[in-house]
Formats: sequence, structure tokens, C-alpha cells
Amino acid sequence: MIKPDAVGNKHTGAILDHIIKAGFEIVAMKYTKLSNEQAGNFYAVHKERPFYGDLVKYMSSGTIVAAVLRKSNAVADFRKLIGATDPSKAEEGTIRKLYATSIEANAVHGSDSDENAAIEASFFFSSLERF
Ligand code: ADP
Ligand code: MG
Repeated sequence: MIKPDAVGNKHTGAILDHIIKAGFEIVAMKYTKLSNEQAGNFYAVHKERPFYGDLVKYMSSGTIVAAVLRKSNAVADFRKLIGATDPSKAEEGTIRKLYATSIEANAVHGSDSDENAAIEASFFFSSLERF
């Protein structure tokens, strides 16, 4: 996902350029906006964390871009490309270092496992087996 801060700050094109040039194939992609309830469900694993309420409000505050990416070693390689959760700790040249606003508004979401990637893809897209 490209998060509301990055879409709002007009970084969508630059971020997609990083992703494509890093060798990811964009399998499916759309602009959408999450309702409060959808954002709550998407981040349900973080329900007990102190930042959950703010995160849900933020993630439903504006347009996002949802995309399904394909690459060998995609989860680990994408997390390397985006950098640490806190942009002030992210490596130089990473997407979060370049484009994030704060630890919450950190420009992009990346799945943390192949299993969660499949679950998160089905949250936004159906019939991915066709791709
Ligand atoms: P990541 O997105 O790097 O996998 P997490 O899964 O730990 O990070 O957290 C999910 C999202 O919750 C983060 O991307 C960020 O938007 C938000 N978040 C994480 N930690 C904090 C925090 N300490 N304060 C505010 N928001 C946070
Ligand atoms: Mg995570």
C-alpha cells in the first residue's frame, strides 16, 4: 500500500518507480479509500498496541494505492526497499527515508510474510489466480 501521506504529498509516481526499477512486477493495483472499519480490520493484529486507534484513523483519512507485487524473495526484498518503520531510522535511499512523514505516516505498507501477503492481497483484489 502507498499510504495517505505519500499519495497526498504526490509521491505515488516516484514510489512506483522505485518499486518497478527494483524488479517487482505489479500484478494488480488500484486507488481506493479505506473506511474506518476496513482499516481496523486490515490492522487488526495491532489491536492491542497503543497506536492502533490513531493508525486506523490515519489509514482511513485519505486515498491509498493498493498493489500486489511479485518477485522472488518479495517480502524480504520489499522490506529492504522500504526501510525501517521509523523513517528517521531508515537507511538512506529507502522509500520511507525519502518519502515518509513520521513513524505513523510512513509512506508505505509492506506485508511481513507470504501468508499475510496472500491475506492482504485478497483484502483488496479477488481472482488473483488469473494473474
Ligand atoms: P511495519 O509497517 O514496518 O511492518 P508495524 O507492522 O510494526 O510496522 O506497524 C504497522 C504500522 O503502524 C506502521 O507502518 C506505522 O504506520 C504504525 N506504527 C508502528 N509503530 C508505531 C508507533 N510507535 N507510533 C505510531 N505508529 C506506529
Ligand atoms: Mg507490519
